Amino acid sequence: MTGLWPHQYEAADLAFRGRNVIISTGTASGKSLAYLTPAITACLDGGTILYLTPTKALAADQLRTLRELRITKVRAATFDGDTPFEERKWVRQHANYVLTNPDMLHRGILPRHAQWSSFFRRLRMIVVDECHGYRGVFGSHVAQILRRLRRVCARYGSDPTFLLASATASEPGAFAKRLTGLEMHEVTVDASPKGSTTIALWEPPLTDLRGEGGAPIRRTATAEAADLLADLVLADIRTLAFVRSRRGAETVALSARAKLADVAFSLIAPTEHGSLATGSSTTTNQHNAAPWEPKDPDHSPTPGSPSEPDHVPTPGPPSEPDHHSQVPGPLSAPDHRTPAPGPPDHHAPSRAASLTTPGEPVDEGGADEGDLPEGGSLGWSIPDASDWASLPDRIAAYRAGYLAEDRRLLEKALRAGTIMGLATTNALELGVDVSGLDAVLIAGWPGTRASLWQQAGRAGRDGRDALAVLIARDDPLDTYLVHHPDALFGRPVEAIVLDPDNPYVLGPHLCAAAAEIPLAEDDLPVFGDTTPAVLDDLVAQGLLRKRPAGWFWTRRERATDLADIRGGGGAPIQVVESSTGRLLGSVDEPSAHTAVHTGAVYLHQGETFLVEVLDLEAGVALVSSASPDYTTFARDITDISILGTQRSHALGPGTLHFGEVEVTRQVVSYLKRRLQSGEMLGDEPLDLPPRTLRTRAVWWTLPASAVAPLAEAGIDLGGAAHAAEHASIGLLPLFATCDRWDIGGVSTELHADTGLLTVFVYDGHEGGAGFAERGYARAADWLTATREAITSCECDRGCPSCIQSPKCGNGNEPLDKRGAIRLLDILLAQQESDTDP
Ligand SMILES: [Zn+2]
Ligand SMILES: [Zn+2]
Repeated sequence: MTGLWPHQYEAADLAFRGRNVIISTGTASGKSLAYLTPAITACLDGGTILYLTPTKALAADQLRTLRELRITKVRAATFDGDTPFEERKWVRQHANYVLTNPDMLHRGILPRHAQWSSFFRRLRMIVVDECHGYRGVFGSHVAQILRRLRRVCARYGSDPTFLLASATASEPGAFAKRLTGLEMHEVTVDASPKGSTTIALWEPPLTDLRGEGGAPIRRTATAEAADLLADLVLADIRTLAFVRSRRGAETVALSARAKLADVAFSLIAPTEHGSLATGSSTTTNQHNAAPWEPKDPDHSPTPGSPSEPDHVPTPGPPSEPDHHSQVPGPLSAPDHRTPAPGPPDHHAPSRAASLTTPGEPVDEGGADEGDLPEGGSLGWSIPDASDWASLPDRIAAYRAGYLAEDRRLLEKALRAGTIMGLATTNALELGVDVSGLDAVLIAGWPGTRASLWQQAGRAGRDGRDALAVLIARDDPLDTYLVHHPDALFGRPVEAIVLDPDNPYVLGPHLCAAAAEIPLAEDDLPVFGDTTPAVLDDLVAQGLLRKRPAGWFWTRRERATDLADIRGGGGAPIQVVESSTGRLLGSVDEPSAHTAVHTGAVYLHQGETFLVEVLDLEAGVALVSSASPDYTTFARDITDISILGTQRSHALGPGTLHFGEVEVTRQVVSYLKRRLQSGEMLGDEPLDLPPRTLRTRAVWWTLPASAVAPLAEAGIDLGGAAHAAEHASIGLLPLFATCDRWDIGGVSTELHADTGLLTVFVYDGHEGGAGFAERGYARAADWLTATREAITSCECDRGCPSCIQSPKCGNGNEPLDKRGAIRLLDILLAQQESDTDP
């Protein structure tokens, strides 16, 4: 066991002794050694190992690691959708270290457990890697798949040890117990980044632009990222900028290149008149240091240089939109920090086209990148370091789908320093091996601390100081974080949440379990307390048959088809490109109303499409590739009724509740916001049917006696509750791993079911996903952070950084910022005196 760090030893030792353990540590802390050591030992001892990871890419990576160890007795193999049919039999019969994912376990391995009998009989350890990915509804599905797995193992007489590995999180042991249903030991170590990385928290300034209700609009995180990227590259600092969408990454790169082009002209132009020094000094003021002395002062710009991305033919698929030429935008974006005027036209008129500054995209909420590779092209060439005119070519964009050879080229250019700045989506996490960076820019909170540290961890080479900058987006959570560094550097408060008891998740897995091995009375505790009630329901629906020996699946179809483990339930809507018939993906029916309604701007793997029409009856959304100069946000009207209260406790003079609710939502219109500025462009009506959602919610009420003084003081109680609701939705992702788009809220001065001022926050998934429950458990901290986020924002009457919500069904009316603070004060001030004896 030499060579292991204490946390690795501790986890490995627990696993050796057959104890279930979760190791929750920072990135690059060597988690894999902690499980490889006991796993390989078990393998050499005649046992088998099942390794689970959320993605195929990680399984392939693990397989490489295992093969590099060259231990002949370890016969490792992946078993996933890509495994050729003829290899599958070999894996089942001979492999003793099988790497797979929950999807394959659910559909391929568990239903055919008899074919895996010799593997299951000897199964000694189950490694669940990167298990922080198993959150929300997906996590709840995985939790039930693991319970099915445990039952199948028991059938073959094995009782494998679980070894889980996750990024840092609050209460990892409790999470692991929920995920596996087993008692878990937890091993944690400090996750803060090593070495001397300076983390800067950057809040973009408010602009003169006005949004909804006349609220000031902040400069976008991507516009700030572009400026910082250009500045850092000019200062000779190798920088990587993480941007949420592919389009965002490309516009950041283009914007930064345009800024470098300005600088290049201001340096070169005087040379043409024989005065280089003057040109240099103008940049020195703005960028601290002139990075290079040009080796060849006579070198003049090459008009239409072939290295310009605009001129490089894109050999990608024909459907690939041309981001470079279609991105609209002003000739030069307004810039508050580096007011470098563009060069006069007469210097090089033929380059005017390449100077066009792309639009500054609004930070698209909820737009996540997929990791599926597809064809693509780099669209740049390696510049000559001595060439001033090629200064802009020192910045490039990278996204998923580049060909392997292009990636190698990019890695080489980064190592050589010919590329100094790279704007990317999180695709880089999987694609390119980038080392030797000085700085990382992160445009917008990446969602979890784990992702933040993973991205920040890219900076730093050879023990040199590194810089990571988190640039806040126009969002209450980002506002809170840049004002409260303790939330990033202190103990994690964000827990990985899931709800395995969700009946909409549990039901299909009980059917799958019954199809695997008929369910007996003794099996029920494995699946949780709600199992008997859900089984009764399944029998009533005719899905299962109850016989004296237990519950049986007797239908012809596959039971596993009932569970859509990565979807959100409901018949999916196919998203189809109208010109080519290409299927881009599917969106579950509830999400379709907000994500692919007619007229919506739809992002798919970072590409932008416009929805021509959503046909709910046909289950299709037809889209076309486009680059509109706006983004869209669906607006809905929502009603909520309480079905039952599970838990309650006093909160100040009010009461906090957790329970079941029915939410009726109707998407009624969508809002257009201009890309460059976030400015409102209008509200377009939509005709969509209402949907009902049975889910779980947390809600608080305040009695009339507590709020009457506020009303007397002229506070609009409805606006105050509404503002508090918006901000609290924005802040819940600090405590539960979810996105603000996973949850919804309703607030009212007087709710029919409570008869009181009430603010609800509910899980946006059928049956619940654990987010509201976590809010209930951490209510005092959550509402304190909500209050802090509102007070931290310097706006006067409310803005998107504090109390406005981009998906508000009421057009952000009414909102009362001061009233929200007063309401939260009443709830929380009393709270403190309650706990103070
Ligand atoms: Zn504000
Ligand atoms: Zn609202």
